[in-house]
Amino acid sequence: MRRLIYLDNAASTWPKPPGIADAVKEAITDYGANPGRGSHQLAARAEQTIANTRNRLSQLLGVRDPSNLLFCLNTTHAINLALKGLLREGDHIILTGWEHNAVSRPVEWLKHQLHIEATLISTAENEEWAGRVKQEIRSNTRLIVTIHGSNVTGNTLPIVDIGEVARKHRIYYLVDGAQTTGLLPINLNQLPIDMFAFPGHKSLFGPQGTGGLYVSPHVPLEPIIQGGTGSRSEKLDHPADRPLGFESGTPNTPGIAGLGAGVDFLLKTGVETVYQHEMKLINQLWEGLARIEGINLLSPAPPDLPILSFNIKDVDGIEVAAILDQHYQIAVRAGFHCAALAHQSLGTDNRGAVRVSPGYFNTQKEMEQFLQAIRDISQVF
Ligand code: PMP
Repeated sequence: MRRLIYLDNAASTWPKPPGIADAVKEAITDYGANPGRGSHQLAARAEQTIANTRNRLSQLLGVRDPSNLLFCLNTTHAINLALKGLLREGDHIILTGWEHNAVSRPVEWLKHQLHIEATLISTAENEEWAGRVKQEIRSNTRLIVTIHGSNVTGNTLPIVDIGEVARKHRIYYLVDGAQTTGLLPINLNQLPIDMFAFPGHKSLFGPQGTGGLYVSPHVPLEPIIQGGTGSRSEKLDHPADRPLGFESGTPNTPGIAGLGAGVDFLLKTGVETVYQHEMKLINQLWEGLARIEGINLLSPAPPDLPILSFNIKDVDGIEVAAILDQHYQIAVRAGFHCAALAHQSLGTDNRGAVRVSPGYFNTQKEMEQFLQAIRDISQVF
């Protein structure tokens, strides 16, 4: 059987670098105890693993005090924590028309349950994002939330400019870093960002079920899940200390161990090296697709990230993905990519689009195989 060509790295990266699965296995077989809940050696070892990953992640992301880095299940969990732990009845927030459902759905929920007001912004050609954000600020605006990079087009938003507007107006700024963490250099100590949500299972090369939220020390975030923290257990009141007050219950120690190995790989390999390789591949794809008749690329120019979406004229994206999977052993993602707003902004019709996202372990030869498959399919239809 031909080797599968996996081009769905924007969902979760695969394969994982060497060392990740071993770290997960070791956490289960060698020290599968509950961290921080006991004074015995195994509990201490599990706790040390979690502290090590937190420290290495802090090093990678420029977090000065690692206790402000909270482990979550995924980006969605991190965004829910940021929104629901900060916003209160009557607050106003600003978000963009490029958000993932991980942002737009909790915002919809907050609108109905907490009477949060939300303004959705887009930009016309030649209009600046920061300027648009500024126009929508109200006296009760508490938070601005934007993606860093789109999971549909692979384009990025100017988070520094937006963050500076937020700072100037004393409004908190939450960034959804799902598609950029591990790919673009991120120094949270220097960026005008108050909260940053990220996945462990995408470009940090960790296992699924891992992610995190950075929260700047001055943000009055409240935990949204109360329970055991392994600290001050004699008290009924839930502690809001970071990080433990935000990580109630037994953590995903094996996942966090694997994430630590992923961060190690990235620190050793270099974020820039990974990015350059993946951008070489996406540029090859963009240029190749642009030359095929009947292809509609959703990004008019090569994207900023190793992600692009397209349609073959008159062919349903889901059908294209199924043919690629079954006849060519190529894995892509079709449909709406959990990003209703982004597809509305792009004006894709009810077919959605085909998304392709190469990763660090893909090759230029595989990109050519993908392009040939698309040439074949577009000729048949
Ligand atoms: N935001 C964006 C921009 C994403 O691409 C994704 C994943 N597709 C998410 C949020 C949700 O990430 P997770 O699966 O880690 O919850």
